[in-house]
Amino acid sequence: MSHLRTLCLGIAASCAFATFVQAQAPPAATPTITMKMLKPDVWEGIGDGGNSTIIIGKTGVIVVDAKQTNPGAKELLAQIAKITPKPVTTVLITHSDGDHLNGLVAYPTGIKIIAHENNKKEQQAALTAGGRGAPPADRLPNEVTTKRKESMTIDGVKLELYHFAPAHTSGDLVVYQPATKIVSTGDVVVMNRADDNPNVHFEKNGSVEGWLTNVKAMIALNADIYVTGHGDLATKADLQRKFDAPTERRNKIAAMVKEGKTLDQIKEALPDAPAPGAPPRGAGAPAGAGAGAGRGSAARPLTFVETAYQEITKTEKK
Ligand SMILES: [Zn+2]
Repeated sequence: MSHLRTLCLGIAASCAFATFVQAQAPPAATPTITMKMLKPDVWEGIGDGGNSTIIIGKTGVIVVDAKQTNPGAKELLAQIAKITPKPVTTVLITHSDGDHLNGLVAYPTGIKIIAHENNKKEQQAALTAGGRGAPPADRLPNEVTTKRKESMTIDGVKLELYHFAPAHTSGDLVVYQPATKIVSTGDVVVMNRADDNPNVHFEKNGSVEGWLTNVKAMIALNADIYVTGHGDLATKADLQRKFDAPTERRNKIAAMVKEGKTLDQIKEALPDAPAPGAPPRGAGAPAGAGAGAGRGSAARPLTFVETAYQEITKTEKK
């Protein structure tokens, strides 16, 4: 685009040509959403940011995580319309990252949007900070949860909403449907990593300790399907593995801190696998997240070792 503008500044003929080329350019490809039935009336919507869970209620549809973009969310809604004539009435948002909620722009106004109160705070902070990837200002959560566990019946569907502890972010919400034994984990659990390390947004006050608490609590639920934030579905065995490996790793880091090892020495001894295709993190870091944290979308996410190290050394100084 800037190249074309440069041409425009030079020669009028080039400008006309550039405009022509632009007009002929194909529109950006629509993200493709794949629908997967998990149980009767429960589906997974895959594609365009984080995975979505779709639950068909008595008169309407409940969606967990809205998708990343307007076209992606529009396609999800179109796919839902192929399954059921019922309208989407409620969206639950598992955390404040844009790849799970910026698609809310495509949803009708007036729907119920439920999230943990810290999720809402992080979205408000991202809106204040402005910039690319800020959440849609007119689609903020209009119902917030505050407790560790909140049971609710939405449109005849019994749900348990859990905030076990800050983990991926400070406002994680885990959605459990006891009747189908399905859990929507948000990005607390992802299956697109090369290793079992957690993704912890330290700049959003996520926590390695809290992450371990979450995974342990999710294993304790009477569940057999975990809709993860990214990648495949997970089983209880997957979660157990994801709990065991980082626990061992975290303990090794703590031992090395005790020995007086520096962060660089620990990183060298315990190299982190690269983070997966680093999904864009729409909602930025809350204001005052600390020097160097910057906006979530621009800053390099901390690795597991860096996050655990910061947390362990912070606790020790107290
Ligand atoms: Zn995500």
